[in-house]
Amino acid sequence: MTTVHSRFPNLYIIDHPLIQHKLTQMRKTSTPKHEFRQLLREITMLMGFEITRDLPLGKEVISTPLTSMEAPVIIGSTPVIVPILRAGLGMADGLLELIPEADEGHIGMYRDPVTKKPVEYLVKLPKAKGRLFFLVDPMMATGNSAVAGVETLINHGVAPSKIKFISLVAAPEGIMVFNEKFSQIPIYTAALDEKLNEKAYIVPGLGDAGDRLFGTV
Ligand code: URA
Repeated sequence: MTTVHSRFPNLYIIDHPLIQHKLTQMRKTSTPKHEFRQLLREITMLMGFEITRDLPLGKEVISTPLTSMEAPVIIGSTPVIVPILRAGLGMADGLLELIPEADEGHIGMYRDPVTKKPVEYLVKLPKAKGRLFFLVDPMMATGNSAVAGVETLINHGVAPSKIKFISLVAAPEGIMVFNEKFSQIPIYTAALDEKLNEKAYIVPGLGDAGDRLFGTV
């Protein structure tokens, strides 16, 4: 089940009960790192069904043990999964399980603690060549990393129509910042939370996704 948000027409909230249940487990402070990782991977796989809904299908003639048939297969260029480091890595794993032939690029960014703006320290991307790019980052807080990530992809030659942004939890502030520049790019998320706090953390959120994934503080 996917809801298009009434206020943000490019925001798709994937509200399948399994996803919502697993997200609740992730939010709990008591959920340990190994479960947190596993849940993020599972949720991303489940979200993947919706995110990949419009992949083009063609036909291939195959032989079954009984006959031959024209059977549906995904056609077109191989998609690219691009996690924004660090926390995006946890989502990329789930998507890669669904689309094992996908290439994976990386955009490394950290948030400057004072300005709260993203600072890019690594960009490693496969050729754009008209391919679909899934940009993933679990926490869409200020929206600054999402905007910077999309700008990096566009500078690399990716058409905006070939970009989908995927998060786990988003804040309205982040969606607004993103939509000032890229309201035509779809955003997929499992939850639109209430707000950001004074440290730009999502409330209620789940804390620092990178720290919870990797056991850092
Ligand atoms: N990044 C996180 O990991 N968590 C937040 O709440 C906001 C940004």
